[in-house]
Amino acid sequence: MSVARLPAPPLAQPYRYQRRELVEPDWTRFPGWRSVSTAEWASPQWQRAHCVKSLAQLRQVVGDQLSDALLDDLRRDQRERATMSMLVPPQMVNTMMPGARPGKRGGWDEAFRTDPIRRYMIPLFSDRRTDWSSHPHATRDSLHEHDMWVAEGLTHRYPTKVLAELLTTCPQYCGHCTRMDLVGNSTDTVTKLRLAGRPADRIAGILDYLRRTPQVRDVVVSGGDVANMPWPRLEEFLVELLAIDNIRDVRLATKALIGLPQHWSQPEVVEGVARVATLARSRGVALAVHTHTNHVQSLTPAVAEAARALLAAGIRDIRNQGVLLDGVNADSHALLDLSFGLLDGASITPYYFYMCDMIPFAEHWRVSVAQAQRLQHEVMGYLPGFATPRIVCDVPFVGKRWVHQVTDYDTQRGISWWSKNYRTSLDSDDPADLHRLHPYYDPIHSLDAQGRRWWATQAGRGPAQVRAR
Ligand code: SF4
Repeated sequence: MSVARLPAPPLAQPYRYQRRELVEPDWTRFPGWRSVSTAEWASPQWQRAHCVKSLAQLRQVVGDQLSDALLDDLRRDQRERATMSMLVPPQMVNTMMPGARPGKRGGWDEAFRTDPIRRYMIPLFSDRRTDWSSHPHATRDSLHEHDMWVAEGLTHRYPTKVLAELLTTCPQYCGHCTRMDLVGNSTDTVTKLRLAGRPADRIAGILDYLRRTPQVRDVVVSGGDVANMPWPRLEEFLVELLAIDNIRDVRLATKALIGLPQHWSQPEVVEGVARVATLARSRGVALAVHTHTNHVQSLTPAVAEAARALLAAGIRDIRNQGVLLDGVNADSHALLDLSFGLLDGASITPYYFYMCDMIPFAEHWRVSVAQAQRLQHEVMGYLPGFATPRIVCDVPFVGKRWVHQVTDYDTQRGISWWSKNYRTSLDSDDPADLHRLHPYYDPIHSLDAQGRRWWATQAGRGPAQVRAR
């Protein structure tokens, strides 16, 4: 007698796609914003005036929902570790702990401690590593951007593209900021560099370099965040930039689209963007916006509305460049949730996730190259190819490399070696540089016992010990 075999039930996919509607969390759950109206919330002026810049202001917003122990933890971080000062617009604070409701004193501690947005915007001392809180090779300007300045604020690293840092402030400060050397206010642990020139002279110097350097075709207009430049001045700069014949791509870098979307929704800004976009189109130049979000919780209807206003004004594409951060998004489900949220909910293209750079006190956020490679593998195949984010390692003295482009990798010591195929302004007179390999370092706590022991024996040896080879 034969027995019919039923087909095996299909196995579940490692990641299950589910379309989610974006939601603006109710800001009136915060005791300090109980009476804030919708009109106030939508005002960029109100948002800027009510940013959380200090512990005292955080306490005003959350009332007694956080315990003294947690606030002490935060205070200690600011005194001993923080490389960025606190500056969080209400819009961003409101994306933290979206489900929390006021309760008894100290009732929000757990939700606050574990919240992914809080983890990178308002770091706690207890978040950081106490064994290797900084990698021995961590540096303030880990990408050597200042060393590659060809005019004040203008980094010329790649053959055809430049980074123009027009200003050193942002509407929000991220704890992991790679430009911690220059951006934001000084903290107890970091005295920031200051741009020496007057803004007008700096802009003139940048434009002058671009006019006499026809091999540059692509300008990332950044800072800081361009949302902190008064729009008329930014528009003036962009009009001058678009008049340079060799400039074919212009990308405006602004995390404010996520942190302060109210800025980009203002009618006067949208109208200005439309004028510049029309001019760009008439000259055959692609004008795009690059933004920065690290977690799907940041995506709300206010963000989607601002993004769509920019696209309707003629911006060709809005792309997200997130940062891969342990405790925030270093998990393929979190990366895919964010990528689908960007694409479906906010019309933003997932583009890059950068590995967190080797700046001081960042080890608790960093992951190994091996983990980044695993994550890249795990996110492949779910999103359209054009919107599948690439995980990249920004290798000092090399530039961005896809994480699978590593040439050599000592996984025990966590040292990966990378090559490059172009000269930067630092090595333009070095014929051997294209044959050299440059190192990048995994966080030491991610290594096995033997690897950690090796690094312990290296204590006191300077960065030059393991430089290019
Ligand atoms: S918005 Fe960008 S430049 Fe500003 S603090 Fe954050 S990471 Fe740094």
